[in-house]
Amino acid sequence: MKILIVEDELKTGEYLRLGLSEAGYVADLVPHGTDGLHMALHGAYDLVILDVMLPGLNGWQVLQALRERGLKMPVLFLTARDQVEDRVKGLELGADDYLVKPFSFAELLARVRIILRRGPVGNESTMLRVADLELDLLRRRVLRNGKRVDLTAKEFGLLELLMRRHGEVLPRSLIASQVWDMNFDSDTNVIEVAMRRLRVKIDEGQSVKLIQTVRGMGYVLDVPQEE
Ligand code: CA
Repeated sequence: MKILIVEDELKTGEYLRLGLSEAGYVADLVPHGTDGLHMALHGAYDLVILDVMLPGLNGWQVLQALRERGLKMPVLFLTARDQVEDRVKGLELGADDYLVKPFSFAELLARVRIILRRGPVGNESTMLRVADLELDLLRRRVLRNGKRVDLTAKEFGLLELLMRRHGEVLPRSLIASQVWDMNFDSDTNVIEVAMRRLRVKIDEGQSVKLIQTVRGMGYVLDVPQEE
């Protein structure tokens, strides 16, 4: 899941970016409203965290411009304390939630998870299921055949992507940009290594192997067809 943070206080922004990265999200930080709008329009983000007072366009203008262009990704506003009108204005313009500064990172992360698990089109499901594999977005827990599988944050993000789009062959370039925020041509085998570890955890000892490599194309998570 990709999150854009538009925040001009660099200390706050960097703190959010690091925290969200450690929680397994791909997080980009931009300290300027106009640049933020540009990135939000072109970066395929799942969520935008938006400060109100920004250089260039302010937070409301960024949100308004996104909605006018038909972009419906959720937006979480960061507002100054005790400015009730600000919060009302943000919600009226189509923000999904707001947090009043100063806030704790734990609270922000909880709000982010709630917003993201609503899904893009009012999908309320907190559970992804493919065959006997279950991923619980709420508890950040994975079960295979009823048994708990322990994953790192990156492995969890990788599995979530594969399960959300199961049956679809996902190219390495897409996995790289969605889970690692890297370019495809990066000279690294980080995806292969993570995928190998994930497959051992998910498929080893199971009669049905769910994660498949499609040579020259990428990876797919699906129940294999009987030949
Ligand atoms: Ca600000």
